[in-house]
Amino acid sequence: MVKEIWINEILSGQYDDQEVELKGWIHRSRGSNKIRFIVIRDSTGHIQCVGKREVLGDEFFDELKGSLIESSVTLKGIVRSTDREHGHEVQISSGAIVGSVNPDRPFPITESAMAEADGGETEFLLDNRHLYLRTSRMTTMLKIRSSVFGAVHSYFRDRDFIEYQAPNFVSGAVEGGSTLFEVPYFGRKDVYLTQSWQLYAEAAMPALERLYTMAPSFRAEKSRTRRHLTEFWHAEMEIAWATNNEVMKHGEGVVRHIASTLLDERSDELLSLGRDLELVSRYADNSYPIMRYDEAIEILQSKDVDVDWGQDLDFSKEKILTADFEVPHFLTHYPKIAKPFYHRQDPDDQKYVLCHDLLAPEGYGEIIGGGERTWSEKEILERLDEEGTPKEPYEFYIDTRRYGGVPHGGFGLGVDRVCTWLSGADHIREVIPFPRDSRRVTP
Ligand code: ATP
Ligand code: MG
Repeated sequence: MVKEIWINEILSGQYDDQEVELKGWIHRSRGSNKIRFIVIRDSTGHIQCVGKREVLGDEFFDELKGSLIESSVTLKGIVRSTDREHGHEVQISSGAIVGSVNPDRPFPITESAMAEADGGETEFLLDNRHLYLRTSRMTTMLKIRSSVFGAVHSYFRDRDFIEYQAPNFVSGAVEGGSTLFEVPYFGRKDVYLTQSWQLYAEAAMPALERLYTMAPSFRAEKSRTRRHLTEFWHAEMEIAWATNNEVMKHGEGVVRHIASTLLDERSDELLSLGRDLELVSRYADNSYPIMRYDEAIEILQSKDVDVDWGQDLDFSKEKILTADFEVPHFLTHYPKIAKPFYHRQDPDDQKYVLCHDLLAPEGYGEIIGGGERTWSEKEILERLDEEGTPKEPYEFYIDTRRYGGVPHGGFGLGVDRVCTWLSGADHIREVIPFPRDSRRVTP
């Protein structure tokens, strides 16, 4: 049953006038009692096949004619180049239905259901997500997503970073209590799903010095927004002997590498989604400016946005700020009161911390959060006290400082957010196979 021929190869012309065996699913079927025009889909494309009663014989012709959309088939035939839609078609000589579809339960995702959704997603499509994955829009998103994952790995591996895994069950919070998922754990009450790999990566920083991961992070985001999932994919890195600026260089580097990888590998897919490739090239080819938090507050205030110094910037503000950006911008030096204890205070002005967010243009907003870590034992103990955070769960973290602490930093990049932005999608749900939010954990 090995499959040797793929539709994109047939469409490239390499099999013209030769016999092929196609394996795929019926995408569309029309015609008469004598001739059928059947579009077959596989993971690489669509091609029209023509079946005639006089060639196929009554039995297989009638079987093919009665087969519903999404039936799986193998078809043999000669490839001809044509001036019709796909440029090539297969003239079927024989074949078999592999998995048929029961006429009492036809494939629920019809062209009209898709037209109603208009690129967005209705509850109906979310309920049928497992079937929606087969549509060309979703297939396209998943291919783009795969290239984004590949690009993150190649960026870090080409620079001698070590891929490193942290546990998903943890007993301390990184991003604060409000978004922690508590899990029942043999009767204990202090076990959560991880919000970030960072604390455990810092423990390995003195061992590996340059490390990265791509793994799910879990956050109980109660409000449903276009850019929050409860389970998202987090690309994180940690690097020893590095300042905030050096960490930012890697943030810019990986995002530009992702954009250029997409141009190399997925231009056709981006175009099919209506994405302007000029924009993606701009994100790949230019460096990303750095702006201090205070400057961003001034810009927002000059636009009459109601924002006070010291507030973290939520999406409504990032959206206004980034609407005019031509390329991603870093925001640095947030007020210490807006950030957790592990952000290192700016030695030049202790009101601020040495951190950064990278904000994507076109109103997409934050895709990276990172910075320099508080690395001396004295400072980390002071910062924990200031915040009133109990030290006990962080003893292992403080040990990183007790035994030969060194300056270091890192960032977390929201992989799903980067996919959303670079594909020009409206909603983060569009780029992940089975999105999880406060209301949905099925299918
Ligand atoms: P936001 O303010 O948008 O909730 P955050 O400041 O909580 O983001 P960080 O803790 O800095 O985010 O996490 C690092 C990165 O992980 C973010 O820049 C973002 O790209 C991504 N991220 C964070 N939370 C989510 C989420 N719920 N869903 C998808 N991606 C997320
Ligand atoms: Mg958050």
